[in-house]
Amino acid sequence: MKNNALSGGCQCGAVRFSTQKLGRASICHCRMCQKAFGGFYAALVSADEFSWTRGKPSWFRSSNQVERGFCEKCGTPLAYRFDGGIELAIAAFDKPELLPPEIQICTKHRVKYVDGLANIEAFEYGADENVDAIFNNVHSYQHPDHDTEEWPPK
Ligand SMILES: [Zn+2]
Ligand SMILES: [Zn+2]
Repeated sequence: MKNNALSGGCQCGAVRFSTQKLGRASICHCRMCQKAFGGFYAALVSADEFSWTRGKPSWFRSSNQVERGFCEKCGTPLAYRFDGGIELAIAAFDKPELLPPEIQICTKHRVKYVDGLANIEAFEYGADENVDAIFNNVHSYQHPDHDTEEWPPK
């Protein structure tokens, strides 16, 4: 158990949460987590005490055991709810780097190439001025990585 006063939320900012106490951080490789996150796995941390501080997620019952919470406005996966409690998506936190996964589960379904991803060729920022020009022209509409009084700004 960690006492973690951490905040987070979805990409558009319609749903925000604040945590008081978190449990185990994990990665799940099951096929339903892959689909629900649109990713190779789900990174989740159990939330022993937390509250929704802006909006509420919508829920999709993905099995007889589990419901998946997501922002109905922007689609960001946010939560995993079951009889034993609730878990929050680590990457939805404002500081996901503070929540390193401690365990992985359902490895039978792990996408084989995931193990080698850290070793594939990295295209670094600054390597190509044409690509840099594209990135420099991106103006994010994403909610910032901190709580806001009002969003979107007037
Ligand atoms: Zn949203
Ligand atoms: Zn899973």
